[in-house]
Amino acid sequence: MSISVLPHRDELHVGTGRLYIDGQWCESADGATWTHVHPATNEEVTSFAVADATDVDRAVQAARRAFDDGPWPRMAARDRKMLLRRYIEALTDNADEINRLQSLDNGLPINFSSMYQVSASFAADIFDYHTGWIDKLVGDTIPHFTGAEYFSYTLREPVGVVAAIIPWNAPVFLFAQKAAPALATGCTVVMKPSEYASLAVIRMTELLAEVGFPPGVFNLVLGEGHATGEALITHPLVDKVTFTGSRAVGQRILAASADGIKRVSLELGGKSANLIFDDVDVDMAAMSAMGMVTWGMSGQGCVCQTRALVNRTIYDDFVDKAGTITQMITYGDPFSEATTSGPIINQRQLGRVMGYIEKGQEEGARLVFGGDRPGGELASGNWVNPTLFADVDNKMTIAQEEIFGPVLSAIPVADEDEAIRIANDTTYGLGAGIQTSDVKRAHRVAKRLRAGTIGVNGFMVMPNTPFGGYKTSGLGREGGLESIEAFTETKTVDVALTDSPI
Ligand code: NAD
Repeated sequence: MSISVLPHRDELHVGTGRLYIDGQWCESADGATWTHVHPATNEEVTSFAVADATDVDRAVQAARRAFDDGPWPRMAARDRKMLLRRYIEALTDNADEINRLQSLDNGLPINFSSMYQVSASFAADIFDYHTGWIDKLVGDTIPHFTGAEYFSYTLREPVGVVAAIIPWNAPVFLFAQKAAPALATGCTVVMKPSEYASLAVIRMTELLAEVGFPPGVFNLVLGEGHATGEALITHPLVDKVTFTGSRAVGQRILAASADGIKRVSLELGGKSANLIFDDVDVDMAAMSAMGMVTWGMSGQGCVCQTRALVNRTIYDDFVDKAGTITQMITYGDPFSEATTSGPIINQRQLGRVMGYIEKGQEEGARLVFGGDRPGGELASGNWVNPTLFADVDNKMTIAQEEIFGPVLSAIPVADEDEAIRIANDTTYGLGAGIQTSDVKRAHRVAKRLRAGTIGVNGFMVMPNTPFGGYKTSGLGREGGLESIEAFTETKTVDVALTDSPI
């Protein structure tokens, strides 16, 4: 017997996967479709329209018209706020369905999909936070540098047409992380979700349409990266690309932006370190370090701390105890409350994860547990058992490359300096964790780590905190005031106050 997600498809409103362009739902120009296969079972769930370059062009033209000639960027703050408030209400009212669609998209267990950080409630809070900025998009008045009779001030204006491209691992959160600041600042949007996770995003777009956003303000195109995504990022009428996804695609976007000097925000991958000092409760530290790469997304999160840098005095104990958590991991039907963790998103990625596990062994890391795949009722899905490698050298491939699977690499370290040196010895710089009960050490180490988000004994991404990466983990920040800056341009206006200005 194997598990099946198909009964849940029938119980949910899955939409028809059409494109949303200029206020209308429509089919793709050439009738092409993409079949959505569920990662837990590899069953075919539904199919979507796939936008080609003609559809993308129509969507961008619609967003351009809505920005240049439509009411949206010029709308009174009070009216724009009212519309966004209606949308927040719609998200809240339909939260349960959106969370379930996310599980039907990417196999996140329903308990995790409904958990605050990746859920529709979090998306509603992100919209709420940014809605609060709408009547606060103010500039400065600036005294003239030379004292001449001038009145100088700045205006904060929307950046224009935004192409937003998001991955499959947290589509609900990332839809909001892009759309909320873009819409709040008066931009217009063409969104492309991942071909592996479109269902929740289609529903979130339906709700935008239902609450009455003007045509062209928000457009949805579905399809694969190399065709639909590429047509979007290279379109000359796009002013800004905001992208969350892999480093390789981020590099391609940066290169493609050179032509029009497009504004670019990139939220990319990571190889985050978890620095575990000898003043912690080892049971808890081992549980949380292993839990970080196995609960929920099964290690398919950009900020998962996949390298545990453990002080030598507690290292053996840590490795012994890390296995405890695996007894609490339950794989299975994503819609069961008992399931704790999800499958690998697709078979290509499953092959990559298994390839890294093989590489780790070839390069001399010690496989403590895992490294294989469950059989029985899970055999048809993309499941990988929780895996721990010990005695990893930071130069090994498994310590340098993003695996995106339930794999933790434990590295013994002598002291604080060595932990910091190894933590920073990566081309990535998205996040890092510090486990210690010494408050002075916590701040000292946080200051020396080259990463965008540092969690001391835990962390949470919030709507009002900036999030992004150092080094190749990204460019710019989203969240908090920095989102507002990322989606606006500053204009300086100089007004001569005399008839003979200098
Ligand atoms: P991906 O880069 O393969 O795809 C992301 C999106 O880009 C998808 O919508 C895809 O269709 C599109 N795309 C692919 N090629 C494109 C191209 N040539 N032009 C335009 N668009 C293209 O990433 P993924 O596998 O969906 O997601 C996993 C990656 O995302 C990991 O590296 C992970 O670390 C990263 N991620 C980062 C964050 C963050 O906030 N930093 C959050 C979540 C995921």
